[in-house]
Amino acid sequence: MYSIDKSNKRNLSSYSNEVKRHQGRNSYPHVLNFYGVPPTEEITIDEFESFAFDRMQVLKALEGAILRNKEEEEIKKHIDNISNSWLPLHSNESDKGYSLQEERRKDHISHFILRLVYSRTENLRTWFLKYECALFKLRFSRENKEERLSFLKDENITWKNLSQAEKESMANELHWSSNFDEETFFEIDFEKVPDLVARRAVYLKKGKAYVPMADLLSLVMYEFRQRLSKALELASKSFITSRNERIMPMLDEIIKQYDGRMQTSNYSVVDDPTSDSVHQLVEHFPLCMQHLYQNLCENLHLKHFARIQFNLFLKGIGLTVDEALAFWKKSFSNIDDAKFQKDYAYNIRHNYGAEGKRQDYKPLNCMSIITKQRPNTGQIHGCPFREFSPTNLRSKLVQMGVRNEEHIREILSLTDREHYQVACTKYFEITKGLLDDNDENMIETIEHPNEYLKASISLKKNRMKMNNNKDDK
Ligand code: SF4
Repeated sequence: MYSIDKSNKRNLSSYSNEVKRHQGRNSYPHVLNFYGVPPTEEITIDEFESFAFDRMQVLKALEGAILRNKEEEEIKKHIDNISNSWLPLHSNESDKGYSLQEERRKDHISHFILRLVYSRTENLRTWFLKYECALFKLRFSRENKEERLSFLKDENITWKNLSQAEKESMANELHWSSNFDEETFFEIDFEKVPDLVARRAVYLKKGKAYVPMADLLSLVMYEFRQRLSKALELASKSFITSRNERIMPMLDEIIKQYDGRMQTSNYSVVDDPTSDSVHQLVEHFPLCMQHLYQNLCENLHLKHFARIQFNLFLKGIGLTVDEALAFWKKSFSNIDDAKFQKDYAYNIRHNYGAEGKRQDYKPLNCMSIITKQRPNTGQIHGCPFREFSPTNLRSKLVQMGVRNEEHIREILSLTDREHYQVACTKYFEITKGLLDDNDENMIETIEHPNEYLKASISLKKNRMKMNNNKDDK
């Protein structure tokens, strides 16, 4: 049985025990970690960046799954898969083949790096807190009862539990608990279990909530959230006061690195695309590029930033500079060659690194499109999920074949909450008929227009292959 202390405050001796534990041979006895003690060992710059990037993949996947209203079981399965690729964390019961200490060390260090990265603004702190809590909750619910209790005991997390006599004296009030005779009850300040109170799932008396062991998760999540929230506040204050000149550029670099990797992935899915074959790919374009393409066809022209956005997208598809020039030349059909060469060709070549500084510009990812160079009146570049009014977005969605009112509302609700990329992913799923969470073609949150195109083409190929296989049988 779980033993209970008088107080739930962590004291200095528990802190120093934790420090010692992380320095010992079995530094990480548990999968679970409250991240109370920062790592003190030296790590390489490469590790610093790659650990942060790998944890970001897991948190971003979690964000996408939650925002897309997946079922809890589905989220668990999905995050287990993602974690196995980026941040594996096996339990003590797993095969001996896994390097448990290494896995937990990476988990520990990566948490602290991202804690620094995300402590800098309130929005970032809120985001990090939300998804770290969600991640901890998944991990906690995956562990067996012995592991959970052993972890809590090592963390010195204790609550007052009712003695047998106290329990008997409250039998009438607590008997609703399904397993009253066997159950252990904790007496807790009611504000520590807001979710249980909100669900009326707990007995309240004089400011105390009487929580059965079965609802342990609520208590643990309260502790985890409180501690991380305070730690993030502290980290942000120390940033403001110290403005550590060595660490700041590294933290910026992590964000850039993440964006950078998103930008330099290989999106090429078409062999030797030409200026003409672009038109056959339109059905695979994300909404931002559909919008630019339609405007280009109607007006035979695009303004400067729209041209850059679309030209770099074409570059990501694999068009050579000559094919891109041919595409634009044909598209600007009412502009004569001399004017085209004078006013437009230079910039198109410039995007390809064939002019000026000869910089090889990457196709823009969603984050860049959403946050940088936002369109003014009369400009049409950017991300429609961000830039369109709800009325315009609704019309556009209907025009693109999204007719189900519930689907439209879901997308509008996501954009209203500023989850533009998740809205785009939802749009992908709806328009491609990916409405079954178990469909193996389900995708991660869209990070890049060219990734959208690639996913759409792959989906079509997979479906054709499956149909052909069926016909062969
Ligand atoms: S989320 Fe990205 S791919 Fe989707 S429409 Fe916006 S910019 Fe384009």
